[in-house]
Amino acid sequence: MRKRALVVGLGIAGMSAAIGLRRAGWTPVIVERAAERRTGGYYIFMFPEGVQAAADLGIADHLHTRNPEWRPGGNSWSVDRRGRRKPVLGLLDAPSGLAAVLRGDIEAALWQGISGDGTEDAVEVRLATTPVEITEGAGGVRVLLEDAGTGKRYREDFDLVVGADGMRSSVRRMVFGPDDDYLTNWKAMICAFQLKEQVPSYEASDSIIVSRPKRAMWVFGLADHAPCAWLTYRTKDIPDRFAGPSIEQVRTAFSGMEGEPVVRHVLDSLEQAPDHVFDSIHQVKMPRWSKGRVVLVGDAAWCMNTYSAMGSSSSLRGGAALGVALQEHPGDLAVALDAWEAGLRPYITKQRRSARVKQQRFVPSSRPVEVLVSGVLELIRRGVHRRLAAEYTTAATATASSATAP
Ligand SMILES: Cc1cc2nc3c(=O)[nH]c(=O)nc-3n(C[C@H](O)[C@H](O)[C@H](O)COP(=O)(O)OP(=O)(O)OC[C@H]3O[C@@H](n4cnc5c(N)ncnc54)[C@H](O)[C@@H]3O)c2cc1C
Repeated sequence: MRKRALVVGLGIAGMSAAIGLRRAGWTPVIVERAAERRTGGYYIFMFPEGVQAAADLGIADHLHTRNPEWRPGGNSWSVDRRGRRKPVLGLLDAPSGLAAVLRGDIEAALWQGISGDGTEDAVEVRLATTPVEITEGAGGVRVLLEDAGTGKRYREDFDLVVGADGMRSSVRRMVFGPDDDYLTNWKAMICAFQLKEQVPSYEASDSIIVSRPKRAMWVFGLADHAPCAWLTYRTKDIPDRFAGPSIEQVRTAFSGMEGEPVVRHVLDSLEQAPDHVFDSIHQVKMPRWSKGRVVLVGDAAWCMNTYSAMGSSSSLRGGAALGVALQEHPGDLAVALDAWEAGLRPYITKQRRSARVKQQRFVPSSRPVEVLVSGVLELIRRGVHRRLAAEYTTAATATASSATAP
């Protein structure tokens, strides 16, 4: 008899875990609260570990990446208070192997991975379905599930429940305790969405940074897609975040900057982006990610937040590693979960700590920090852009001589 696992959440963490489980010989069943599989989403930097985990999960060939080609002079710009632009070190410029994607690109690749391909069975997915009660017994976990479409509730038994239902996980709440026990408040907000059109006078694949103390606006250019906007600001008023329309809150946060053409274009575009993300920023810190036969993965377990830019990579890696641990310890779930967590936790802790430093890059806490960060980045940029320009010239020369060869 194959063991059955309930995976809660059809995001990156849930689908990665489902593929890992299936590889370990388990039968995963995914339940997702939404009535449809989501597509699109915001801009994501994938780190090499994420790309490697995608390969480990067998989905690398399905993953569409969108890194823009570098142009001499660069394609990332910083805009100062007078509206002057100057080239800046782009996050994709450094030789770190980052991949630029939309969240939907990763999820589309994983979706192909969980769909049957002739060699492996398709993973069962139940949309508009949520767990409302989770009870662990001697031989398994009994879950009360609710179908939002019909309102029907039914009980089902599983050998394992995987909570992959995001930062405000309901599995975590039901099994481990209230959000307040695990969510740390970063006193900052995020708003992200896809622009319909690039900011006028910029190339379609350009990235633009408008960074001021405590508030910043980034436009991330892509190779074959309209750019994405990513706005963040530091605030003390987190409890009021959902009071009133998010667009008004974001406009208030950037008040005094509307005269700047980039800011005006992005704020006006937000009005036409009803599916934008607007949320407070937190990290999730848990002393342990599993309890009996319930385990959490991805943002539910270790959300490092948007500043770390590691959430998708760590979710892919976490799902792949869970499968490996279950395969290596087939007879003992507790030992498998211990081994999984022991292997993963040092990496997660290291990445989580780096988020505070990265936050200063994305949104400086003060004017001196802004000046320091831009000074350091400018020094690095000169060297990096010299190297990229030399590589560009070499590649262009090689292309020209192969075109003229008889
Ligand atoms: C603006 C922004 C920018 C980011 N940028 C980056 C980046 O550059 N690089 C990077 O690596 N990461 C980035 N991240 C983080 C990354 O998107 C997440 O870490 C990643 O998507 C993993 O999420 P997850 O699958 O754990 O959770 P989620 O994406 O939150 O998915 C959870 C799923 O569970 C479902 N669900 C929730 N509750 C229930 C329930 N009760 N029952 C059933 N289903 C439920 C939800 O509908 C959803 O489908 C960013 C995040 C944000 C918000």
